[in-house]
Amino acid sequence: MSSVETLLPEEIERIRNDFPLLERRIGDHQLIYLDSGATAQRPISVLDAVQEFDEMRNAAVHRGAHTLAGEATELFEEARHKVASFVGADDDEIAWTKNATEALNAVAYGFVNATAGRGGEAAQRFVLRPGDEIVVTEMEHHANLVPWQEVAAHTGATLRYIPLSDNGALDMDAAEGLIGEHTRVLAFTHVSNVLGTINQVGRLVELAQAAGAYTVLDACQSAPHLPLDLHALGVDFAAFSGHKMLGPTGVGALYGRSELLNALPPFITGGSMITTVTMEHTDFMPAPTRFEAGTQMVAQAVGFGAAADYLSHIGLDRIAAHEHALGQRLAEGVSQIPGVRLLGPAAGVDRAGMVSVDVDGVHAHDVGQFLDDRGIAVRVGHHCAQPVHRRYGVTASTRASVYLYTTEAEVDAFLNGLSDVRGFFGADR
Ligand code: PLP
Repeated sequence: MSSVETLLPEEIERIRNDFPLLERRIGDHQLIYLDSGATAQRPISVLDAVQEFDEMRNAAVHRGAHTLAGEATELFEEARHKVASFVGADDDEIAWTKNATEALNAVAYGFVNATAGRGGEAAQRFVLRPGDEIVVTEMEHHANLVPWQEVAAHTGATLRYIPLSDNGALDMDAAEGLIGEHTRVLAFTHVSNVLGTINQVGRLVELAQAAGAYTVLDACQSAPHLPLDLHALGVDFAAFSGHKMLGPTGVGALYGRSELLNALPPFITGGSMITTVTMEHTDFMPAPTRFEAGTQMVAQAVGFGAAADYLSHIGLDRIAAHEHALGQRLAEGVSQIPGVRLLGPAAGVDRAGMVSVDVDGVHAHDVGQFLDDRGIAVRVGHHCAQPVHRRYGVTASTRASVYLYTTEAEVDAFLNGLSDVRGFFGADR
């Protein structure tokens, strides 16, 4: 990390000028946006790309003989190329989805449909039977847990999970014991959206490959923040969302190794994803089109492409270095506040640019309200990850998460606010 040049303060100021929303005031206070882990703000280049598309080029893609349809299709496919390159994938390995949740469901229900006999010979490889095991982790976002529970219920496969150690890391000894001859799928997050833990993708992929299992990577909290090369990581499938990486809502991406994506039965069917349809039977297009049924979110995809451009221009390695420093500042800062417990890796351990904390005697919602009164936007609740909260004996936490536009001063304002919370609510007596 340290060998990479980080973002300089004057550069961050310039970056901030690209984000109109960061000028907002909340009551008497300047907004301090520390909720990028939920959704990131958008730079002018993304807002402009979407607006330009809507104003001048709006048309449905892939099916019009007219000029507008041609232009829209070109922009749509150009955006796919930008997003694919951004994560080290080939263009035909990226299918647009509504969000990461839909992408993860596309993989999960591909297994369900294959098991139900759909997809012919090619899909046989995805058939699951009783005795087969799907392995997830205890730190999964519900988006990468609930679909696998559904797969297990539909197929008779067993769901198992890699537990967590007290310091917020995956218990890798347990992982080695769990991943074995019965494992057919290993689905895991790259970065925990609660703990900030960065998982050992390489080692997990090795274990899965040795067991002959498919890997599904939830890259929601890594694609926006870390340089990502999906080919180099060797995962079979991955999912991420546009809105967490400066893009619009309503668009996400499903990655699948070409050979696999072409064999996986689609789970949303209808127009645009077919080659021939008779009253009795339908043949599907190859990937990625077989996963893009119905009229597509073209403006959003174009915005997603512009977001990938914006991030690439600054450099993910530099963004990661900046966030690493802020993540350490957050972790060190919260661990010095009496009555505040940091969930996840301690300061000093490599972690993402976020912290989730439990404030003794004050509910997370009150912490969030108190901070909002100072213009500080944080996330409170279970962050769609109840099991990981249960693991650490809490039902909710307060999460501050940073991005490339976050300053040290903003982190310090959060830490100051957090220091005052217990006193304000009389929880320090
Ligand atoms: N996985 C992780 C780790 C996340 O943080 C999120 C969003 O918070 C998701 C999955 C789901 O993303 P989306 O709601 O964009 O589908």
